[in-house]
Amino acid sequence: MINRFIQRITVLAALALMLLNPLEAEAADRLQDTGDRLVIVIDPGHGGNNRGTLENNHEEKFMTMITARAMYDELIKYDGVEVYLTRTEDVSMTLEERAKFAESVDADFMFSIHYNASENHELFGAEVWVSSVSPYNGYGLQFGHEFLTEAKEMGLLVRGVKTRLGDEGDYYGIIRESVKLGVPALIIEHCHVDNERDMDYCDSDADLKAFGIADATAAARYFGLSSSELGVDYSGHSLAEASATSFNSLTKNDDTEPDVCEIALETGDDGRPVIRDGVLAVNVTAADYDSPLMYYSYSLNGGATFSEREIWPGCDALTGSYRDTFRLELEIPDGTKPEIILRAYNPYDLYTDSNLLTVPWAAVEEPENGSLPSRENQDGTVPAAGGTVLSPTGETAPEETRERPGTTTFQPAFSEQAEEEQEVSFISFLKLCLVFVLLLFIVFFISQYLSYRKRRKRRRQHRKELGDSRNQQR
Ligand SMILES: [Zn+2]
Repeated sequence: MINRFIQRITVLAALALMLLNPLEAEAADRLQDTGDRLVIVIDPGHGGNNRGTLENNHEEKFMTMITARAMYDELIKYDGVEVYLTRTEDVSMTLEERAKFAESVDADFMFSIHYNASENHELFGAEVWVSSVSPYNGYGLQFGHEFLTEAKEMGLLVRGVKTRLGDEGDYYGIIRESVKLGVPALIIEHCHVDNERDMDYCDSDADLKAFGIADATAAARYFGLSSSELGVDYSGHSLAEASATSFNSLTKNDDTEPDVCEIALETGDDGRPVIRDGVLAVNVTAADYDSPLMYYSYSLNGGATFSEREIWPGCDALTGSYRDTFRLELEIPDGTKPEIILRAYNPYDLYTDSNLLTVPWAAVEEPENGSLPSRENQDGTVPAAGGTVLSPTGETAPEETRERPGTTTFQPAFSEQAEEEQEVSFISFLKLCLVFVLLLFIVFFISQYLSYRKRRKRRRQHRKELGDSRNQQR
């Protein structure tokens, strides 16, 4: 109880701090001074033996080439810019070689083109990795905002402009090696090729080219370029507020899990949780003091399995904002006794699990026929559960959360459970058989023993009779 109180207080304090000191980016001038001659290097990631991501029938080294060439073709339409590619063929190149090439042409920026995939195919969205070293961190943040704004308009989840630290400073070699040579560099991870939500963005060559054009437009906006051919002029375009000298908090490598994650059942007037048409409402309270919350998933079976990831309501990695409370409607499969856990993820995919909520059926509104739902009705096919987010006012939630209503599939989880139950009953059947066989053995041995005793008794009797007759003979 006291713990909860302290958590609530810390959430409130964090909110107050955020209000006083908003992370929201404001319009600003470009931090980077490029001089008269502007040189841009585009680096199609991977190549040769280094094939990159191979998920979902894609080969990243070819994808990056299509996007990089489209970016090149678009950028040369702008006035006063020299553009180079680190490679034009399917060849292996070390990260040092790429950095050295950028240095050799006196590059103002190197953009490394990539496509992403995650181990469990859970992640989706676009992100930009930048240097943690100033002033490159500030340059990266300003460009990253331009690209991710485009990605957001395309409908992708924005995973932020981020830094990742390793033992030698910047974790990603292309950034580290370039910065060593004084060349600003960053990585654009356009989308996740292995997640259903992002697949449509990278399916065809046309998709990959569209990303290249978005990259070029972001660069044109960042450098304030104009193109008579395209009829655009970005010379007055203002960029996100960033600092050249100090590290930008929005890009911070967050290595701690979200700080608060709590769920409570929404209750009716009688104080009991209400389930209507198989839907149960849960109120979520969560906070991460370092970065915006990005995804959530939930478990209805006490954490054995979790749903697919959903976008955290109000998540905006460009401003660092998210909703710290929301109402989640959970579809509870007929006849199950839900054990609910909510998992909150930050942009570095670190997560915190909420408290466990158990809902005894007795506390839940009874179905119309007056009897409690029973497992027998299930016949192995359980309706899929889906989560929908409602705003506190009861309206339907922001667009991104409505994109795929109720598509979270819990079916595999529950069919697994059904399988497990089947397995369990098979094992108990085996046990019964064993007991039966044992009983048979015991009966067999007892009967054997009894007949042995009978035979012995008969033999003894026989011998006695023989002895008697012998005595009679004497
Ligand atoms: Zn890659």
